[in-house]
Amino acid sequence: PFDVLVVGGGPAGASAAIYAARKGIRTGIAAERFGGQILDTASIENFISVKHTEGPKLAASLEEHVKEYNIDVMNLQRAKRLEKKDLIEIELENGAVLKSKTVILSTGARWRDVGVPGEAEFRNKGVAYCPHCDGPLFEGKHVAVIGGGNSGVEAAIDLAGIVKHVTVLEFMPELKADSVLQDRLYSLPNVTVLKNVQTKEITGTDSVNGISYIERDTEIEQHIELSGVFVQIGLVPNTDWLGDSVERNRFGEIVIDNRGATNVPGVFAAGDCTTNPYKQIIISMGSGATASLGAFDYLVRN
Ligand code: FAD
Repeated sequence: PFDVLVVGGGPAGASAAIYAARKGIRTGIAAERFGGQILDTASIENFISVKHTEGPKLAASLEEHVKEYNIDVMNLQRAKRLEKKDLIEIELENGAVLKSKTVILSTGARWRDVGVPGEAEFRNKGVAYCPHCDGPLFEGKHVAVIGGGNSGVEAAIDLAGIVKHVTVLEFMPELKADSVLQDRLYSLPNVTVLKNVQTKEITGTDSVNGISYIERDTEIEQHIELSGVFVQIGLVPNTDWLGDSVERNRFGEIVIDNRGATNVPGVFAAGDCTTNPYKQIIISMGSGATASLGAFDYLVRN
């Protein structure tokens, strides 16, 4: 059996595997797609100490770093079940069952798409999901935020400090965000809030040049010229496969303590699939290191 088996090969999983292997213990990593979300990322400018890189390049460096160590890498393997027996068992989609003394879950998350024409076409060409990552690219420009929940309103407040103007589009007649956030939003001079509107299309040529929406009460279609659209209708953790085997919160995030431990002894978790706040590369890597040291500590004591 493994001492540490990591499930998920994004920044969190790679970091967890390297920290474990450096302890000289038997380490494996199973990932559906080694690299994770960064494979879909164009430019990265907030991975501290690296002024600028690109997602696929960072993914290749992660893989290179992992290969420096004696780590059993199982790429293109999707986990479908976790069961705690004497050891912890992870069953893969191909039927194989991996056994380990500890497991680190780092299966990440995915942004929920609005699913309108133009969204996929202009992804990374004006369509963005992360204000911390891509906000500065729109300095001095007009952008829209789709979604008036907490994440949408937080994004709009954040962006309003960088860009020229922000238009928030909310499908429902009222914003769902906490009232303190709404108060802050409405106090800003360069924000327009459109409620009860349905996004119809993100328009553009080489990159985004506007957004079309329908006023739901009048059914009138409107178009706004702008340069960027931030989609903020939810981040979905890739944790459904766990069922009730590990405690998750109402958003599906795996509940962890400050050492990365879950409610199941020997099962740790890290990165975007957890309750750890703020979903970022540098944070998920730190979280992977924490969970790995947590798992090592557990092995020493058990
Ligand atoms: P992920 O990167 O999501 O990796 C999850 C891993 O688990 C993958 O290998 C996946 O294939 C695997 N997996 C999932 N389910 C299973 C399963 N059942 N079995 C086995 N493996 C599974 N952050 C920044 O800091 N700066 C940026 O500029 C930035 N830009 C971004 C741009 C885009 C378009 C996106 C989508 C995200 C961006 N982020 C950015 C966020 C950043 O990519 C994430 O915070 C980070 O990748 C999270 O790492 P993770 O390892 O927790 O999860």
